[in-house]
Order: sequence, then C-alpha cells, then structure tokens
Amino acid sequence: MLSKKLEETLNHHVNAEFYAAYLYLSMSANFANNGLNGIANWYAIQAKEELAHAMQFYKYILERMGKVILEPIAEVVTEWSTPMMAFKDALAHEHKVTERIHDLMDLAVAEKDYATQSFLMEFVNEQVEEEKNATNNIEKLILIGGKDGANCTGEALYLLDKEMNVRTTIVE
Ligand code: MG
Repeated sequence: MLSKKLEETLNHHVNAEFYAAYLYLSMSANFANNGLNGIANWYAIQAKEELAHAMQFYKYILERMGKVILEPIAEVVTEWSTPMMAFKDALAHEHKVTERIHDLMDLAVAEKDYATQSFLMEFVNEQVEEEKNATNNIEKLILIGGKDGANCTGEALYLLDKEMNVRTTIVE
C-alpha cells in the first residue's frame, strides 16, 4: 500500500505530466500557426511522450491499490514570439519536472518504499535525456541563429524546421 502522502504526491505528478503534454502541444500549435511544421512535429511528439509518462504514473498508483485523482490542468501559454523563447521555456520546464521527480524519490526513500523507488528510477534517468534534448535544441538554434537565435530567420529557420521534422518516435 502507498502511504497517503506518497499517493497524494504521485497524483500531483500525474497532473504535472499532463500539464507538460499541454505545454508542448501548445508550443506545437504555435509553431504550426507560424508555418513551422517541422518544429511543430517535434513538440507534438514530445507531447505524446508526456501523455505516456502521465499514464505510467496513473497505472502505478492503481497497481499499488491507490486512488487516482485527476486534478484540473492549469492553463498554458499559447504564444511564443521566437523559437528561442519556446525552447528556453521547454528546458526550464524540464528542470522543474526533474526537481519534482527528485522530491518524489526523497519521499519514497524517507518512507522506505522500495517499489516506488524502483519505479521512479526510470524517470530519474528519463530526465537526464529530457534535459539533454531540450538543451540540444537550444544549442542547434544558437549554432544556426547566433546568440539568442536572433539570426535564425529565412534559410536558417527553414533548415532548423526541416531538421526537427525528422523526429518520428517518442524514444530518442
Ligand atoms: Mg515527462
């Protein structure tokens, strides 16, 4: 059985993963509205990945005989004026998710809940990937668009869009 505190915190995390899906889907829509369908594709796939994470936490709570409580999903930003602003928001968001996972792990350790520690380990590792991917996007943008990606226009932006259209799966 999960402790009440752990059950509650795991439920908050289901919500955080759904929020992440919302955030990335909103970015995807924003890029699509601006004719950047490749970048939109990258974030649409990222949104699907976040939904899959939410479902893993959902299933885990049920497996441990806990009660799933689906909380309201907070509103997300709908417009980013430059790709760099969106990419930076994405990285900042992943840092927050990492912090949440670490807090959950601290709680599971404090409560000596070994099954939850084992479940969470996959996500500790997953966050290393997520932060790396979000950082890579920023680095690519700096590479082709200079500091702050300010020169990422015209042909450079077209190339970035083409490059980000290559992503086809949620496993990187
Ligand atoms: Mg996630």
